[in-house]
Amino acid sequence: MPRPLVARIDLAAIRHNYRYAKQLAPASRAVAVIKANAYGHGAVAVARTLAAEADAFGVACAEEAMELRESGIDNPILLMEGVFEPAELALAERHRLTPVVHSPEQLLWLLQARPGRPLSCWLKMDTGMHRVGLAPRAFQEAYRCLRACPHVADIVLMSHLARADELAHPGTTDQLAVFDAHVRDMDSPQSLANSAAIMGWTAARRQWLRPGIMLYGATPLPADHPASAPLRRGMCLESALIAIRELDAGAAVGYGGRFVCSTPTRVGVVSIGYADGYPRHARDGTPVAVKGRRTRIIGRVSMDMLTVDLTPVPDARVGDPVQLWGDRVDPNEVAAASDTIAYQLFAGLSRRVRLIHQ
Ligand code: PLP
Repeated sequence: MPRPLVARIDLAAIRHNYRYAKQLAPASRAVAVIKANAYGHGAVAVARTLAAEADAFGVACAEEAMELRESGIDNPILLMEGVFEPAELALAERHRLTPVVHSPEQLLWLLQARPGRPLSCWLKMDTGMHRVGLAPRAFQEAYRCLRACPHVADIVLMSHLARADELAHPGTTDQLAVFDAHVRDMDSPQSLANSAAIMGWTAARRQWLRPGIMLYGATPLPADHPASAPLRRGMCLESALIAIRELDAGAAVGYGGRFVCSTPTRVGVVSIGYADGYPRHARDGTPVAVKGRRTRIIGRVSMDMLTVDLTPVPDARVGDPVQLWGDRVDPNEVAAASDTIAYQLFAGLSRRVRLIHQ
């Protein structure tokens, strides 16, 4: 019997979530962000699911784009980190990949390129995140150069929001104001909104959306925010009980003896650990569901196993299913109990986890 650890991917849920993003801004087009193997959900399977309706796919780099092209995906593809050297522009031309231009170096490479046919690009302004993007004045100058360049075709004006998930924070309004003030005279389409902005900031919905995490059904906003309600979970991470222990009061569980039983306790051992991508920092009390019933992790997560309290599931037996996250356990809850975010949980799954697309 193979190890029972699998991630079941609900492709219909991902399609539903993509359609939901588009419904929120029906006049906009959308780049479905499927970088990092579609946040761990399987980029090729997700791309095939969305191919008939996605206006474009977003990946980090040319390698990720080539995986899609080699699998027959024909949609426009945005290279969200742009190219890493001038030679990649030839690859972009050959495979119809659209680079983001976020640095003076990338701008120069594009202007100096001699492609056989005009290339399109997205030009990125730093409006306050201070990670990548051209400062607003340099952005304006770059736009003028690109517009004057005979081998540059369409340009999309973009920026990225640092705090769109904080609905009461003024940072997003400030970033929008910086952007709008510097693109006033430019007649190109715009793109500002990631998932949090699509769901929570109407003013950020421009001609192109860039939904990522929402496609996979994890909300970047509070779970009780009305915009979170229509999302459907894209992944159910499941394993099984591989051993059960009856421990006495006072027994310590696992490495470092972090959890000490205060009463006689039935403890289940689950076949998943940090080498699979489950967060080692999950605290005692992190939720899991055994046979569909919620209980909690007790003791430190080890490389291949973790331990759970079986008190709420007295009829649990070896072989019974354990859900780490999915319809019973919100990945955001697991993330909060592990000092991380659902993005990292999904993208951090290792290749030991078998993806089952359904
Ligand atoms: N746009 C850019 C430039 C990004 O880097 C990302 C993800 O990191 C996204 C959009 C999608 O963001 P989210 O997953 O929060 O929707």
